[in-house]
Amino acid sequence: MAAPSPCSTTPRRDSYQRRRPDETRLYQLIEEHWPTFLERAEQAGGLPDFIVEEFEAYLRCGMLEHGLAHFVCRQCGESLVVAFSCKRRGLCPSCLGRRMSDVAAHLIDEVFPEVPVRQWVCSLPWRLRYAMGYDRKLCADVLDAFIVALPTRPTTLGMAGTQLMDVDGDGRKELVSFVAPAPGFFRRTEQEGWGSFRAFCSRIRARRSSSRT
Ligand SMILES: [Zn+2]
Ligand SMILES: [Zn+2]
Repeated sequence: MAAPSPCSTTPRRDSYQRRRPDETRLYQLIEEHWPTFLERAEQAGGLPDFIVEEFEAYLRCGMLEHGLAHFVCRQCGESLVVAFSCKRRGLCPSCLGRRMSDVAAHLIDEVFPEVPVRQWVCSLPWRLRYAMGYDRKLCADVLDAFIVALPTRPTTLGMAGTQLMDVDGDGRKELVSFVAPAPGFFRRTEQEGWGSFRAFCSRIRARRSSSRT
């Protein structure tokens, strides 16, 4: 009788299944329309090389015909094929997703101390985004400006229960907080910075007490 395989009773715990990018709507859409889109773009002056490379790498990513690794277990003969991935940073959902998970794991395991953490997202006007895509110096300058501006912002900015509203009608939007510890607002300064917090109730109380006198 043949010796039992040392591997047969231990199937992969993660139940790995090969990714099939060509079965996704995104892949099918890009595969179908990319050549026509590229041709039309060429007639209109062409796309930057890195955009073309990004799309073409995506169309090869995870496809066996563009390269693969074949793993075989010497003991039981079980085998596995893994298609090469594009490892791009532009539009490939698979590679971007994996990079995001890797970075998140790295930050949690290796970088962040055990303290509360707040995430800020810097959203830029479209025209500035294009310029920054081609200009590393500009990109670094914008990041510096963002980092300098951050500590001057109210800590509740963007949190639930807050809203940007022009409370005093001066054309600048104050940050209004409707939640505890006290409803109120942060006033904007003329230099686009933020003033100190003013609670609504104290103003109402002040008005009430002044109307009684
Ligand atoms: Zn095996
Ligand atoms: Zn990819």
